[in-house]
Amino acid sequence: MSYEGKMLEDLKMPSRKEVEQALLISLFKHNGVIKEFGTGEEIVNEIADDFTLTEEQRDAYLETIYRKENRVKRSSLWNRLLFRAADNLAKEKIVCRPSQTFILTNKKEWMLTETGFDEALKLLHIPQEQKDNLPVKSYEVQKVINKLTEAPRPIDYFPIDERKTTSTVTKEISIRKRGFRQAVIEAYDFKCAVCGLKLYSPNKIIWEVEAAHIVPHSSKGKDDLLNGISLCHLHHWAFDVGWFSFLDDYTITVSVAANNLQSDYGRIGNYNFIEALNQPNLKLSLPINEKIYHHINSIKWHRKNIFNK
Ligand SMILES: [Zn+2]
Repeated sequence: MSYEGKMLEDLKMPSRKEVEQALLISLFKHNGVIKEFGTGEEIVNEIADDFTLTEEQRDAYLETIYRKENRVKRSSLWNRLLFRAADNLAKEKIVCRPSQTFILTNKKEWMLTETGFDEALKLLHIPQEQKDNLPVKSYEVQKVINKLTEAPRPIDYFPIDERKTTSTVTKEISIRKRGFRQAVIEAYDFKCAVCGLKLYSPNKIIWEVEAAHIVPHSSKGKDDLLNGISLCHLHHWAFDVGWFSFLDDYTITVSVAANNLQSDYGRIGNYNFIEALNQPNLKLSLPINEKIYHHINSIKWHRKNIFNK
């Protein structure tokens, strides 16, 4: 048995298979990405905590003597075990290596692939049907996000995709859908463009904010940033039913139906949902990068076809 193998056994370290599973669950909890296993990285301790490793297990070092240079190299046993597990997952194409994801995100992180996402769902006993509603990124989804974020901005943009299929659910459609949602909410820093609400679930997994299509999905609205806006549940609903829209200068405009609303409608305690929207010169909060603003043509379509003037 190797020196390392003996140490792993003597210290009763978890098996590589167990570490692989813990890594997948950890990736899932961190929305599909975790940092490299550098010394002092939070993730290294977090997974050690999952195994309730003792101080001795965490602090064990392997010592390799480099005779030529006459020096001793020390490396953490736990870090090596994590790396070997991740390396094996990468060989099986369940995760992508930090060198691969760096090309897409400029960050050295391990990232789930679609196969890895499915594996994690199985481990956590989450039905496959829930996949589309989970904000977990995969390498394939990140590629879609990059494509959408870097897409050129045509002047004659048409927000409808006549060829768009709205019924069949294929793997490709699922990736496109998740890529659209993630790209939009990231562009708006996970906030509602109208009220600014930024909130996630207590386990930090599910964001409250939604990626809304300006020309709706049901009308074959395109899944790109020029036809997307980030809205909280309530503003998403109100936008989709035509309570409000935006002008070309991003000012919010409210339906005249607001004038005939009964006094107890639209109230949340002392807050009046419709009145709050109906303020002069109330503008949307847009992304910092102008290139990813929604397109005027999408909002023109919404004003004409959905908005209840
Ligand atoms: Zn809102």
